[in-house]
Amino acid sequence: MSASAATATLLEPSSTLGSSAAERLAASRRLVVKVGSALLIEAAAGSVDRAWIAGLCADIGRLAAEGRKVLVVSSGAVALGRRRLGLPLRGALDLQTKQAAASAGQSLLMRAWEEALEPHGSPAAQVLLTRDDTEVRRRWLNGRATLERLWELGATPVVNENDAVATGEIRYGDNDRLAARVAQMVRADLLVLLSDVDGLYTADPRLDAGARHIGEVEAVTPEIEALAGAANAGAAVGSGGMATKLIAARIAQAAGCATLIAA
Ligand code: GLU
Repeated sequence: MSASAATATLLEPSSTLGSSAAERLAASRRLVVKVGSALLIEAAAGSVDRAWIAGLCADIGRLAAEGRKVLVVSSGAVALGRRRLGLPLRGALDLQTKQAAASAGQSLLMRAWEEALEPHGSPAAQVLLTRDDTEVRRRWLNGRATLERLWELGATPVVNENDAVATGEIRYGDNDRLAARVAQMVRADLLVLLSDVDGLYTADPRLDAGARHIGEVEAVTPEIEALAGAANAGAAVGSGGMATKLIAARIAQAAGCATLIAA
């Protein structure tokens, strides 16, 4: 995470405009780090990429040792549950089967986080949310209090959507948006969206060798959203994509939180 920050795209509220991505990372006190399935899961095997998660947790351990509060939002439950339940690793699943896969995979996902965080002295603490938890005030306050207490106790909260029960209109739908809501909830100053692309481009970098990386964006404007739709739609795998990352950045921006899109 720290090494890739130099090439990431930073979307930030104007109050902090001008600081580079690396400086923003260094200045942050409360970070929400969203990890997508595409990075965490080895697609061919349907299992956690142990080397990758170990590297990320070493970064998280360093940030925590510097006194920063770090919260992880992790995808990967469905992908891991597919293999555990003997389902095809790719292709669409019906709703109930997908929920079943998420249930079976969630415990494997937590085991991976627990094992990777353990050498850095921080217990992994599972928090599963549905949309109401960030929209109904009493639940929002309760969720926030639990997350704060976990930090006080030295744990690293690992958040995911409660896929087993969340369907249709009660879903966040994707973890980019969930991560932005959680960032608001804990008053994070930096939302890091780790994806398989290192930020915004003027064109899809996989299709166009001339695509240029956009280092910093002052605000998520309709023009930037149009750029994401046209140039970056196919650039990320998983249920997110660049468009949902910009929606997340807009939510975070409204709460005064900068967003870093990094690989
Ligand atoms: N909650 C889903 C999972 O753990 C992922 C949703 C997303 O990546 O946007 O598999």
